[in-house]
Amino acid sequence: PKKIKLSEPEHKKVIISSNNSNFHNKPKISIQEQRRKLPVFDKRNKLLELIKRHKTLIILGETGSGKTTQIPQYINSARLQENGIIAVTQPRRVAAISVALRVAQEYGQGMSVGDVVGYTVRFEDVTSKKTKIKYLTDGMLLREAMFDRLLMEYTVVILDEAHERTIHTDVLFGIVKKAQRIREERNLASLKIIIMSATMDVDHFSRYFNNCQAVYLEGRTYPVNVFYTVKPHDDYQASCVATFFKIHKEAPPKLLAKDPDVQGPPIKVCTLYAAQPGTQQMTVFQPSQPNTRKVVISTNIAETSVTITGIKYVIDSGMVKARSFHPATGLELLKVQRISQEQAWQRTGRAGRDSEGYCYRIYTRSQFELMKKTSIPEIQRANLNTVALQLLALGIHGLHFDFMDKPPKEAILAAFEQLKLLGAVENMDSNNLSPLGRKMAKFPLDPRFSKILLSAQQFGCLEETLTVIALLSSESILLSPPSKRDQAQNVRQKFCSAYGDHITLLNIYREFNNVGQNNRRLWCHEHFINMRNILHAREVRNQLEDICKKCDISISSCGSQMDQLRKCLLTGLFTNVAELHRDRHYITLDRRQVVQIHPSSSLYGQQPHFVLFTEVVQTSKCYLRSLTTVESDWLYEIAPEYLKIRNIRFNKDS
Ligand code: ADP
Ligand code: MG
Repeated sequence: PKKIKLSEPEHKKVIISSNNSNFHNKPKISIQEQRRKLPVFDKRNKLLELIKRHKTLIILGETGSGKTTQIPQYINSARLQENGIIAVTQPRRVAAISVALRVAQEYGQGMSVGDVVGYTVRFEDVTSKKTKIKYLTDGMLLREAMFDRLLMEYTVVILDEAHERTIHTDVLFGIVKKAQRIREERNLASLKIIIMSATMDVDHFSRYFNNCQAVYLEGRTYPVNVFYTVKPHDDYQASCVATFFKIHKEAPPKLLAKDPDVQGPPIKVCTLYAAQPGTQQMTVFQPSQPNTRKVVISTNIAETSVTITGIKYVIDSGMVKARSFHPATGLELLKVQRISQEQAWQRTGRAGRDSEGYCYRIYTRSQFELMKKTSIPEIQRANLNTVALQLLALGIHGLHFDFMDKPPKEAILAAFEQLKLLGAVENMDSNNLSPLGRKMAKFPLDPRFSKILLSAQQFGCLEETLTVIALLSSESILLSPPSKRDQAQNVRQKFCSAYGDHITLLNIYREFNNVGQNNRRLWCHEHFINMRNILHAREVRNQLEDICKKCDISISSCGSQMDQLRKCLLTGLFTNVAELHRDRHYITLDRRQVVQIHPSSSLYGQQPHFVLFTEVVQTSKCYLRSLTTVESDWLYEIAPEYLKIRNIRFNKDS
């Protein structure tokens, strides 16, 4: 039987689509017919009437009922937005892009994306003067609010996927609520707010938006049979794969011709996750060959953001990879953790869209009962540095912001302390950004990264810094296919720097730039470099360079003087330094957390005394990834105040 790899840590959920009648046994239906078949279609007039009548409206509906793709089009064809633009936010970049492409296609009339329907995500703007419906990430709308707090370009703002409660959406709740009020007070064009979501605790939302009206779109759903495992399984990946083969062999193939040599019909495997190249993402929507069973391996994107038709079986690992911040250790981690019951039900629901379905939960019923009822909003578990800076750029102190659910006070204060150490604010209690802080807010980056760019002038290394920050802000350029890992490492050995991963990346980028246009593809192939991602990083670099120019930082290069670059990195990341202890493990200077160098780092196996890190991953242990070696003397030079406040002493000195 064919093998399925589940080695990508992000792949936590398997959805199996029975390759059913949709594609092969019924004549292909036109895109307009598909639109008319969606559950929202019948409610169109009623919905438009409600949208017209209420300045704020909550719309709830099952995933796949047509909220995201249809409602903005209904508003546009009724011209409810009048002279403004309709903004529709998505927590994820992939969702914003794929939905915009789909809606542009539905819109037809020879329109391509960027005309009437467009999208804006970080580092990519596909809109024009003609754009009436603009899909954008919640992060982008927040960034736009920094330039215009009243969001005057828009007359309708739809905050979609509100149940996900990302930090950006949570902050936007407060921003749009205030913009709506102020526009009303000043007799400016009014702002309509629509909150859209999968089913959720609607009272909580309604209360926050001054007891606004909510509507529930009843979708057509079919019963889903839920199964639990009898005993707990630690290795959820292996269990998912085993479950898949069990279903594949035993579940009714349904109209599929049995091939006597294969147990079950042929399989087509698709993946869907945020870091994936766009063209690959689109393959999940394509019908597969007749008599083939389609398997979609996906992260929580498929929970509610993106709908795939024809899904009959869902395998739910019960896990999700989520970001969490530990004020006690000062570390922000990407960590695989249990989902909430609410998420489990969303996953289950993916199986009941077209017909009766089945959901296999790779956990026991009592494990399910121990799960949290609802997920904790990100704002209550993440690092708030970026948000605190953005709010200050809007003239608001995080402690006084009208949050739907307040983040812990300590997390807000920790963010302010970080901003103060970076030199972005004058003092902890004021709403005033320093001139440096105002420049920092111009970059669509973590404040620590913007600080690094803004320090580059002083160290004469803007060229190098731009490259490193652009690479850190894009998806990884390094390919390491498990079967060829050693080969990849060997061929890239020549780029490895004794100073660590950031400079190794810089070496690769420099070399890539020296390769002639015609040889690039071959060069990338030979060196296991993801060409798409490195080209994307180059675009990101150009945009960051533009912002630097606007901030009057002149272009400079440190050539081979890597100390300059290493010091420059330290100006933003001095709170991310770990020191070697007893030649064995590392301890972070900031909160004395025990950590290790990740095996993927070019410093693995070496034991530099001090390392600066940009990423922490926790599996069985806490690992640092993406490192540069630094000197303790530099910390005295660059962050003396920090060493004093935290009373930091080095092991080396004792
Ligand atoms: P909701 O927002 O209520 O979850 P959507 O508007 O995203 O629903 O999706 C409605 C329907 O549109 C889906 O059931 C699916 O059939 C179709 N659809 C959405 N995106 C795509 C796409 N990229 N390709 C093909 N069909 C799509
Ligand atoms: Mg949707």
